[in-house]
Amino acid sequence: MKVCPNCGKDVMEDYDSCFHCGAKLQLNSETYVVDHGDHLREVGLVFLLIAFFFPLIGLIVAMMIKRNHPLLARNMFLVITVSVVFYAVMTAIIGFFIAV
Ligand SMILES: [Zn+2]
Repeated sequence: MKVCPNCGKDVMEDYDSCFHCGAKLQLNSETYVVDHGDHLREVGLVFLLIAFFFPLIGLIVAMMIKRNHPLLARNMFLVITVSVVFYAVMTAIIGFFIAV
């Protein structure tokens, strides 16, 4: 939800003018925050994929971004844990079939 800078009432995201007072709506700080959040989510997904396929690189990246993006870093640690368990189980299963 955006807030009209002219009258302060809530307006729809995709409207380019306020339907309460008719003021033109430009990119305000709130819209910027929303865009920034979406951008971070996309980057976050890439980081989580890296963490899954390259746990060691993911671990280094997570350590680096921990200070600025604690939530993303925590998700990465979670994904790394899951991927390590996943690879351990896969290795065990493959090892079992090779042994048999
Ligand atoms: Zn307005």
